[in-house]
Amino acid sequence: MKAHDGMYIDGAWRPAVGQDTIEVVNPVDEQVIGRVPAGTAEDVDAAVRAARAALPAWAATAPVERAARLTALRDALVARKDEIAETVTAELGSPLPFSQSVHVGLPIVVAGSYAELAATHSFEEKVGNSTVHQEPVGVVGAITPWNYPLHQIVAKVAPALAAGCTVVLKPAEDTPLTAQLFAEAVHEAGVPAGVFNLVTGRGPVAGQALAEHEGVDLVSFTGSTAVGRQIGATAGAAVKKVALELGGKSANVILPSADLARAVNVGVANVMANSGQMCSAWTRMLVHRDQYEEAVGLAAEAVAKYGDRIGPVVNAKQQARVRGYIDKGVSEGARLVAGGPESPREKGYFVQPTVFADVTPEMTIAQEEIFGPVLSILPYEDEEDALRIANGTVYGLAGAVWAGDDEEAVAFARRLETGQVDINGGRFNPRAPFGGYKQSGVGRELGAHGLAEYLQTKSLQFRER
Ligand code: NAD
Repeated sequence: MKAHDGMYIDGAWRPAVGQDTIEVVNPVDEQVIGRVPAGTAEDVDAAVRAARAALPAWAATAPVERAARLTALRDALVARKDEIAETVTAELGSPLPFSQSVHVGLPIVVAGSYAELAATHSFEEKVGNSTVHQEPVGVVGAITPWNYPLHQIVAKVAPALAAGCTVVLKPAEDTPLTAQLFAEAVHEAGVPAGVFNLVTGRGPVAGQALAEHEGVDLVSFTGSTAVGRQIGATAGAAVKKVALELGGKSANVILPSADLARAVNVGVANVMANSGQMCSAWTRMLVHRDQYEEAVGLAAEAVAKYGDRIGPVVNAKQQARVRGYIDKGVSEGARLVAGGPESPREKGYFVQPTVFADVTPEMTIAQEEIFGPVLSILPYEDEEDALRIANGTVYGLAGAVWAGDDEEAVAFARRLETGQVDINGGRFNPRAPFGGYKQSGVGRELGAHGLAEYLQTKSLQFRER
């Protein structure tokens, strides 16, 4: 696989300061497919300086000019879509059709939606005797995870550029090659030097240096709640803005009036997508006691289809972690309906698609984010019980409600403590805000709400207006 041996800083690929490198491994066959430099605090500092130097001019560009660059960025991603999909497949292990349609298809839509928003958003409004101006927050430090290597980057960089901010990106260790291709696309799109900068490296070194850098005005982080909490604390101490997109333990609530078979099938598909490595996955399926055994049977049937179709998880550490959770489910007394802790293949970081029944709300597998292809099915007694269980975790990122009609589902969804709910199988909308209640995060990504994270307001008062 093609890999740059430098950092993209101030419009060019520059040698890294240190000698340390990160190996990129294909999770399907465990082969090393490339090496990228592991950035140091010095590399981060050079990137932040470049971003700061580029800020005044970029912030002053007309929004239509920023829109034009974002359209060009979308086009550059489209032109490279096959190469990016193959790279995602190589470093994440996802099946190529999924990489093409979701890993690359989705961020192309998001980049296009921010091109549109940059052109149409009203950055100035009149309120009584004042004008209120929306101005870029400044230099953004973006730290992204590996689970959707391109989408996580575009969901931060596109709104930041639309707002007039400049960016330093520190992508995940496991998927830096996709990030390098993104930097190439930014370059081809004619985004001015220094507006976007890439530093590959390890979280506790390059990531932490970026999060702590005085020259960064906003840290936008997606990843684990543990690291997010640390970044939030650091930002709080420095009174710096922060956006956090963290974990989830979302509930798929199937009310008795729902089409049970459809709700179960879509629910299983949701948890198996991307091998369960999705923060918004509906990892807890809630089914009324009277329909419970039928639902468990349907889920076991549905999951059998995924045996050979899902990819591995990203690395050996995640594989061990997910298998550890499956062991924990068994030892805490849940009933294993499909799958199990054994690895299904000799090579590669594969995990069996796994379904647990008789899961109680207190069990570890019903409380903690597993980030693997593991579904827990919980029975509930009545709607109030379902609501208590659904809201009974520290998270609140996403979820689903199924009922005989949308009104009934909406009435229930309005009581859920969560940022996104799919009603009767509603489709993911890349223009609708995405983000968490409770410990799932701070702030929103996507759409106009996502743009707002990168803007701050200034009001000018006049005697008359
Ligand atoms: P992580 O939080 O360790 O890593 C995410 C990003 O943060 C990476 O770029 C990493 O290099 C960086 N990072 C790590 N430590 C840092 C630090 N001290 N300071 C600054 N940056 C740092 O997550 P992970 O190891 O990739 O995955 C672990 C778990 O996180 C998963 O099992 C899952 O539960 C969760 N996760 C959530 C999402 C999400 O979209 N919400 C995505 C990936 C992982």
